Amino acid sequence: MSPSEIFGSKVFNDATMRERLPKATYKALKKTIDEGLPLDPAVAEVVASAMKDWAIENGATHFTHWFQPMTGITAEKHDSFISPTSDGKVILEFSGKELIKGEPDASSFPSGGLRATFEARGYTAWDCTSPAFIKDDSLYIPTAFCSYTGEALDKKTPLLRSMEALNKQAMRILKIFGNTTAQNVITTVGPEQEYFLVDKSLYDARKDLIFTGRTLFGAMPPKGQEMEDHYFGSLKERISNYMKELDEELWALGISAKTKHNEVAPAQHELAPIFSTTNIATDHNQLTMDLMKKVALRHGLVCLQHEKPFAGVNGSGKHNNWSMATNDGQNLLEPGSTPHDNAQFLVFLCSVIRAVDEYADLLRLSAANPGNDHRLGANEAPPAIISIFLGEQLTDILDQIENGGAKSSKSGGELTIGVTTLPPLPKDTTDRNRTSPFAFTGNKFEFRMVGSSQSIAGANFILNTIVAEILSQVADKLEGSQDLNKDVQSLLKEMVKSHKRVIFNGNGYSDEWVTEAEKRGLPNIRSTVAAIPVLIAEKNMSVLSKHGVLSKAECESRYEINLENYIKTINIEALTALEMANRQIVPAVIAFTTDLANSIIAIKNTGIQADISAQTELLTEVSSSLSSLKKNIKILQEVTEKAASMHGDSYNQACYYRDTVFTQMTAVRADADKLETLVDSDLWPIPTYSDLLFNI
Ligand code: ADP
Ligand code: MG
Repeated sequence: MSPSEIFGSKVFNDATMRERLPKATYKALKKTIDEGLPLDPAVAEVVASAMKDWAIENGATHFTHWFQPMTGITAEKHDSFISPTSDGKVILEFSGKELIKGEPDASSFPSGGLRATFEARGYTAWDCTSPAFIKDDSLYIPTAFCSYTGEALDKKTPLLRSMEALNKQAMRILKIFGNTTAQNVITTVGPEQEYFLVDKSLYDARKDLIFTGRTLFGAMPPKGQEMEDHYFGSLKERISNYMKELDEELWALGISAKTKHNEVAPAQHELAPIFSTTNIATDHNQLTMDLMKKVALRHGLVCLQHEKPFAGVNGSGKHNNWSMATNDGQNLLEPGSTPHDNAQFLVFLCSVIRAVDEYADLLRLSAANPGNDHRLGANEAPPAIISIFLGEQLTDILDQIENGGAKSSKSGGELTIGVTTLPPLPKDTTDRNRTSPFAFTGNKFEFRMVGSSQSIAGANFILNTIVAEILSQVADKLEGSQDLNKDVQSLLKEMVKSHKRVIFNGNGYSDEWVTEAEKRGLPNIRSTVAAIPVLIAEKNMSVLSKHGVLSKAECESRYEINLENYIKTINIEALTALEMANRQIVPAVIAFTTDLANSIIAIKNTGIQADISAQTELLTEVSSSLSSLKKNIKILQEVTEKAASMHGDSYNQACYYRDTVFTQMTAVRADADKLETLVDSDLWPIPTYSDLLFNI
């Protein structure tokens, strides 16, 4: 089948709805999807019946409410369509009520105390803005997950709320600029997903990969990524077959997988779809991650989505390309070709700049997880400082705005800022900057900090909310203006003046930038634990609750969930490190030292005066590393036990895990990695970095 035949074949998409729904039902549903109007239960009844018929024709036997709890992955519980009849047979049924609402047992999902305060019940509610689809013989219905009293228990709900908030505020700006055609503004996202592939049999021999998703031990192989021969390199056949099958699976689900290539680190790859509405892009990214893992197994491979599976080579991120667009297709971050649009563009651009500067801490938080702690600040990833790359030309224009009004652009030509007289801004006038965490790339911003294993919902609901906030402030100022041209100019000037500190076009990976950023007063939040309290800072809770995205109670619950997640993750890592060190590495090293000792004795017993200094030296060196390893294991054991038994304040507990347990894991690893370079490779109990990274 050709891609055009495959694409969307398992999706209850617009074309299928139009074909299968009565005209009036289709129209009513479209109104809900496009304009956010409430859904009539009678409409749901008709849609459910059509969906069921379509699903059964396509082989489905079950349906599931598919949701995105705070675990960061998706959840599903399958119900069959069957309903018994009095004659001992069954008919297949699916009601509007079943489509609209589900009630999974919510008690085993993270709620951060929300359930204790309110109710144990959890509900899933149909999100008709993201199309239903068929996977593994089930009809999947995308849903939002909330508590009995409507508190969000998931990643999707705040995202949907933030899209509404941004729509409302952006529409106010468009009205100010005289746009009468747009009916709503959506946010668009194209997430580039990085991942590693390793051989399944090697993976199975590594408890750390199985339990934690990353290697807790492993000396650097003779070759890493220094030859830069993997990036965009020719695809190996096994990998290319995998990617082909993955593409087809994704296309069938209506996911527009577009780009695939080898990434910088050995065994690292990337997939990027064509951008779509934030909500759908988020659902699609979750499905992509899931299918990446499932398809890999069919090829004897395991897909690693951890942010840092291997020390010493690049980790994996997710570049979140973000913009705003009207329903009639105007990209609001497109510099544009008419003067009118340019003033509008500059207002949107400066609003994003201001939002990023004022809420840099929230954005940083949105990319924080234990895995990303290994990336942010390390030299292959954006540093933990949020800054914006604008490129030479836009920076120059902003400089001119600040100094009393833009008169010219760097590429020549007259440039006057204002509602009526602003010539087009040429695109792509500057080189790319790969070191900026938040880069303007022609007609969108690319937020590069997000971790590869994270749901992109977090980054996007924060972005949408903070930009909505600034747009609302701008609209408050400009609505009712008597002289729009003048007021826009002075507003832009003020915005540039106060927020240009966040703009940085240089090398974000350099030490000088860290010093310079500190001088500029930009926050540098170095760890997840340090980022988590940002969520309960008064200014941040206010902006999230003001726009109806997260209430204070929801912020507090997420603060708890994030801390718990950090604590549990490091605890599992520490226990895994202990298990591997005690039961695999130490015994292997002892076996090796025994061999060495036996060899020394055996040589001595021959009575020959042979030089055995090599053996004795090695035995001494290995024994001393082994002794250091054993001491460090003991300390790790003690601090992990202490950490796990800490009660009360989870923030303090998380700090202890970060500062003491995590640090001690590093000490254990250093000894073990040194021993790996000394011990007979046949005796080494786990596959090495060479095996894992270069064996496909
Ligand atoms: P790169 O060179 O960084 O890979 P691309 O132009 O290939 O950049 O785009 C990367 C991602 O950005 C793709 O997923 C693409 O669909 C997405 N993208 C392009 N335009 C927009 C937009 N207006 N809004 C959101 N994402 C976009
Ligand atoms: Mg990119």
